[in-house]
Amino acid sequence: MNRKFLALTVGLVASLISTSLLAEEKIRVLIADGPQKAHKYLDTTPVLKQILNKLPRFEVDHSRSSVETCADGSYKPDFKKYDVVVMNEGFGAADWPEATQKAFEEYIAGGGGMVSIHAANNCWPKWSEYNKMTGLGGWGGRNEKSGPYLYIDAAGKIVRDTSKGTGGAHGPQHEYELVVRDQEHPIMKGLPATFKHGPDELYDKLRGPAENVTVLATAYSSKEQRGTGRHEPALMVISYGEGRIFHSILGHHVKQIQEGSFVTTFLRGTEWAATGKVTIPVPKDFPNQKFE
Ligand code: ZN
Repeated sequence: MNRKFLALTVGLVASLISTSLLAEEKIRVLIADGPQKAHKYLDTTPVLKQILNKLPRFEVDHSRSSVETCADGSYKPDFKKYDVVVMNEGFGAADWPEATQKAFEEYIAGGGGMVSIHAANNCWPKWSEYNKMTGLGGWGGRNEKSGPYLYIDAAGKIVRDTSKGTGGAHGPQHEYELVVRDQEHPIMKGLPATFKHGPDELYDKLRGPAENVTVLATAYSSKEQRGTGRHEPALMVISYGEGRIFHSILGHHVKQIQEGSFVTTFLRGTEWAATGKVTIPVPKDFPNQKFE
C-alpha cells in the first residue's frame, strides 16, 4: 500500500474516532439547591436528577447550601468542574457567601452554563449579577427599580414596560399553551409551534434587567385565570459574558416536572446551556410522553 495513502487513511480513521468520542463526551451537571420558603426542593431535586440520569450524556452532582454554610462562608462548590449548574433555588434562599457569588459570576461570564428552574428566579433580588443571569425575576420586593416588565404584544413584538409596580405574580394552577417564538433556536428546533403544559403556575409580571434575553416561548396569561392578559415569557435564553443561561418558568412541583413538556425542554435547555448545541431528540409523542 502506498505510504501516503496509508497515512491518510490512518489519519481519517483517527479523526472519525475522536469525533465520535467527542459526541459522547459527558456533560457534567451540578444541581444547586438549599432551604427556601415556597417550594419543596427536597422532593424536586431528586426528580431533576433522575430525569438527567436517564440519559448517559449527563453526569450529575448535587450541592446543597444551608443558612449556616452560607453565613460562615463554607458553601463554595467548585463550579469550574461543571459544564452547567442547574438552579433549583427559590424564594427566601439564603444568600450565598460573597466569595461564592463572585466565583459563580466569573464561572458564568467565562463560558459556564446555567439553568434557572421556576422559582430560581424568585431568590436573591439584591444580587444584581444573578438578576442579569436570570434576566427576569419575581417577588422579594422586586419593583420598577429591578428593571422593566417584559412581554410580547399581539403583533409578536417584545415590549419593555418600565411602569411602576411589583414584580412576580401568578393565578391558580391551570393548563396553558406554550407558543414557540423562536423556532430556529437549537432548543426549540423540531418542537411543535404550540404545545400544552400544566396544570402549573403561570408566572407573570416578572421584571428584571432583561438584558440579552431571547424569548423562546410565551404563554398567554388570561384575565380569567387572574393573569395579565399578556403573552408572558415562559422559556428564555440569556447571555452573560461568554456564558449561556436557559430560563424556564415551568415546574412548580414534582408533577409538573415530570410532564413531557418540562422534561424535553429541560433536557435540551441543559444540553444547550452546557455546550451551545442540542443533540437530544424531541420524542415522537411529545409532549405526551410519560416520565416515570
Ligand atoms: Zn411555584
